[in-house]
Amino acid sequence: MDTGCVNTNLDIINFKILIDMNHYTPKPIDVSDVELQEDVTELREVIAENAHEEWALQRQKEGWIYGPERNDTLKQSPDMVPYAQLTEEEKEYDRLMAINTIKLLKKAGYDLIKIEQTELYVTLKQRIRNAGKEFRCRRCGHPLSMHQIFCDNCGLELKIDWNS
Ligand SMILES: [Zn+2]
Repeated sequence: MDTGCVNTNLDIINFKILIDMNHYTPKPIDVSDVELQEDVTELREVIAENAHEEWALQRQKEGWIYGPERNDTLKQSPDMVPYAQLTEEEKEYDRLMAINTIKLLKKAGYDLIKIEQTELYVTLKQRIRNAGKEFRCRRCGHPLSMHQIFCDNCGLELKIDWNS
């Protein structure tokens, strides 16, 4: 039995995979020529937020939890928070992906037609409007993030209806 030969073949295969991985150049479709006439702010946000939720859910299933610093061994990530609590910089990743997906649909010949005012749409619009507002604790004045239940500075129970 010539196992050496088998090993050599496997080595060659592994080597080829390694080479391919090193030569991988991401090539997303260029959508810079696509101009969106309609206001897609709500749609962009819903896609961006949902992409983050899907990502976090998958990570959670793999055992990831929140941690102030990214740590692959402890499976901790500072991004394991609701989308609304991500920094604007972090949200930009998801927003760029969302807007490029919308542009890709147009480039592929699809059109965006909104046919009804769904409950989800109304809720989203409300939340997006609130996201621009700055909320502060009524007791200590500490700035608050969306969906917080308690003030992280003084511990006051906030009783804010974030969806209104
Ligand atoms: Zn407070």
